[in-house]
Amino acid sequence: MAFDRFGRKIQYLRISLTDHCNLRCLYCMPGDMTFRPNDELMQDDEILFFANLFSSLGFNKIRLTGGEPTVRENVVEIVHGIVHTPGIDQVTMTTNGVLLSQLAKPLADAGLKRVNISLDSLDPAQFKRLTRWGEMQDVWKGILAAEMAGLTPIKINVVVVAGYNESEVASLAHLTIQHPWQVRFIEMMPFGGDTDFQLDKVITSDQIKEQVESVLGSLTPGNEGKLDGEARIYHLSGAKGNLGFISSVTQPFCSDCTRARLTADGILQMCLLREQEIDLLTPLRKGSSRLELEKLILDTVWQKPWGHGLEEGQIATNRVMSDIGG
Ligand code: SAM
Repeated sequence: MAFDRFGRKIQYLRISLTDHCNLRCLYCMPGDMTFRPNDELMQDDEILFFANLFSSLGFNKIRLTGGEPTVRENVVEIVHGIVHTPGIDQVTMTTNGVLLSQLAKPLADAGLKRVNISLDSLDPAQFKRLTRWGEMQDVWKGILAAEMAGLTPIKINVVVVAGYNESEVASLAHLTIQHPWQVRFIEMMPFGGDTDFQLDKVITSDQIKEQVESVLGSLTPGNEGKLDGEARIYHLSGAKGNLGFISSVTQPFCSDCTRARLTADGILQMCLLREQEIDLLTPLRKGSSRLELEKLILDTVWQKPWGHGLEEGQIATNRVMSDIGG
């Protein structure tokens, strides 16, 4: 079992399958982003080795992310391999959904449980502005394909950006009236080289809630007031689905964090918003033993920071978000 020095049992690993992405969301990465060459990324067998190693240390939940995980070659085989790793109970994915109309069924057949799909706007022109070139319809078709394939309950991630999609929060929340989906509003976090943009255009959960309630009526707290992952849950009257508010900036949920992150280049990070990281891939490639790697992981987990340092003005700038995967 992996515990940190505050007694938190760390059992949830997010693995970035690649830093490459088929979109260029404004708040996530620069427009002229260059990606790592493939040989710097974990190879398929290395990903499966790490899944096995972490599971032997008590990690039982894995979320695959990116970059964009669905652009990773052999993604279906990788999912199948992780799903069949002893000790892993649940494999999920965060994706922009662009390729799900082709991949949802094969991924579900490979054992993927659920997907979180990012969709910041229902307006095709606004969607293109935020993603720099994406087609909203591709994502919409992806969401329907995921639902059809049984990758449910569908969760939709919305990052709200002032001057872009802030006027759409009620329309996005309204999706939960007709669909049994969770629409999750995420506060934009300052990160990487885009911090001026991110700090300037953040919209808080309270502002989003106020706007949703002014159009759609009052929100009732759900999930007995407990966090669902990192989201605080509410629902609209008569809705089939619910709303999640991920308030990483104004109401951090660090004390409940049980996550570790493995970047596409094999670096272990214990906090999304801190710069400390430990390289696991280089020692693996240089021949470290399984025992040595286990010790490295357990020591790193032990040192997991209590929380992020945004309130003290500490912003991680060594990596962009797409490098780690959210
Ligand atoms: N490509 C996939 C996707 O679009 O979901 C997975 C990677 S993406 C980095 C994971 C999540 O991080 C997405 O929901 C994205 O909207 C969110 N994200 C990216 N940059 C962010 C930021 N600065 N603040 C908050 N969320 C961010």
